[in-house]
Amino acid sequence: MAKVKTTFYCQKCGAQYSKWQGKCNSCGDWNTIVEELVQKADPKDWKTSAKKEAKKASKPLLIAEIDNTPQNRMNTGNNELDRVLGGGLVPGSLTLLGGEPGIGKSTLLLQISLGLKYRVLYVSGEESQQQIKMRAERINPNPANCFILTETKTQNIFRQVEEVEPEVVIIDSIQTLHSDYIESSPGSISQIRECTAELIKFAKESNTPVLLIGHITKEGSIAGPKVLEHMVDTVLQFEGDRNHVYRILRAHKNRFGSTHELGIYEMQGSGLREVTNPSEILISKNEEDLSGTAIASTLEGMRPLMIEIQALVSTAVYGTPQRSTTGYNAKRLNMLLAVLEKRAGFRLGAKDVFLNVTGGITVDDPAIDLAVIAAILSSNEDISLEKDSCFAAEVGLAGEIRPVTRVEQRILEAEKLGFSSIMVSKQSKIPKSNFQIQIIRVARIEDVVSHLFG
Ligand SMILES: [Zn+2]
Repeated sequence: MAKVKTTFYCQKCGAQYSKWQGKCNSCGDWNTIVEELVQKADPKDWKTSAKKEAKKASKPLLIAEIDNTPQNRMNTGNNELDRVLGGGLVPGSLTLLGGEPGIGKSTLLLQISLGLKYRVLYVSGEESQQQIKMRAERINPNPANCFILTETKTQNIFRQVEEVEPEVVIIDSIQTLHSDYIESSPGSISQIRECTAELIKFAKESNTPVLLIGHITKEGSIAGPKVLEHMVDTVLQFEGDRNHVYRILRAHKNRFGSTHELGIYEMQGSGLREVTNPSEILISKNEEDLSGTAIASTLEGMRPLMIEIQALVSTAVYGTPQRSTTGYNAKRLNMLLAVLEKRAGFRLGAKDVFLNVTGGITVDDPAIDLAVIAAILSSNEDISLEKDSCFAAEVGLAGEIRPVTRVEQRILEAEKLGFSSIMVSKQSKIPKSNFQIQIIRVARIEDVVSHLFG
C-alpha cells in the first residue's frame, strides 16, 4: 500500500514547502500556500520503469559523432503558428498555449487539429464530444484525421493513445487533467506538475508532439504554476482584447526557435483567419483628417508592421491630470511627455493624455516613440498630420532622435503600403537605394516640431 504524503504548494508560483506558512518566500504573496495530498505510486512501478529506463538511457558521444541533421519539423498547415513556432512542430516537444479564458485558444487548436495532415488526438476536459463536433462543423466540415476524446484522467488518455496511435496530441486543458498518482484535485499545483511530467515522458518516448492549453489568471500568469512554463519546451501566448477582432500569437519561450515572431489572426464566425498582411488591418482608413493619429513603422520579430497610434490631449478637468495608455508602456509615455516639456517647451503637465495603439496589440518596439510624440503633438495643437506619412525612430532623454534597428526594412514596408514619407533619425544608416518614398531625417525633437507644424 502506498504511503499517503502531503506537501504544501504556493498556488501562485508553485514553490514547495514541507509545512504551512503565511507568506511564500519565493513570490512574496500571502495566503497562497495550500496543503495538497501527494501519493506516490507503488514502489514496484518505479522499479520496473527504472529498469526500462536504464535500457534506453543515452550514452555520451563525441561532438563529431552527434547526428546534427535538423529535426524534421511537422508543418501544421497554419502559417502564422508555424512561423511563431520557428518552422513547425518539433517531434517530441511539449508546447503550452496560454491565454485568458474566452480568447479562442480552443478554437485555434481545434482548427489546427482539423486541418492537420497528421493523425491527431484532441483531448478535451472542457467540452462534450457533441459540443466539439458542433464547433468543428463550423470551422471545417470535412476533417480527415481528427479523433476527439473527452477524458480528464491521464492514465485513460494514454490508454486511448495506444489505441489511436496519434502523430499529434492536443490537450484542452492542462487544468482539467488529473493523474491517479496524485490525490489532490485537478488544477492544483501538484496535479498540474504530475500530469505535465507524464505528458513530457510520453512526448519524449514516443516522439509525438503534444500541445497543451493553459488558462491564464487575471494577473496574467498561467493559472497556478510558473513551474509549468519551466517544464515545457515552448510557451505560446494568445492575446488580444476579447472585444477586439484580432488575436496575437507570440512565443514567450522557445527551445527550438526565436521568441520574436508574431502571428496575427482575425476572429470570424467560422474560426480564426490568418492575417497575412497585418499592416492593412492595423491602420484605420479614415477619409477625414483627424488630429492625434500617427503611423509607426515597427518590427515584430522579422516582420514589419505598420501600426496606428492615437493620442488625445485635453485640459485636465479634475485636479490631477490623467495619463492612460492601451498597448503602450505608461512609464515610457510619462518619459516622452517630460522630454516634450523640457526640450521642446510644451506645457503638458496640466493636461490629460490618453494614448492608444489601435488593434488591441501591445508594442514594445522603441521605434514607435517618434510616432507617439507626433500623435501627442498633433492632438495638442489640434492639427492633423499628413495622412501618408509615417515614423520610425526612438526618442532619447536629451530630446535626440535615435536610430533604430533594421530601418531599411521599415522604410521598405512603408513604401510598399503607399506611404509618401517616413521620418527617421539623422543617424540612421540607410544604404544607397532607389527608394521612391521621401525620407525625412531629423536629429532633435525641435526638428520634428518644425517639420510637422512649420
Ligand atoms: Zn509563491
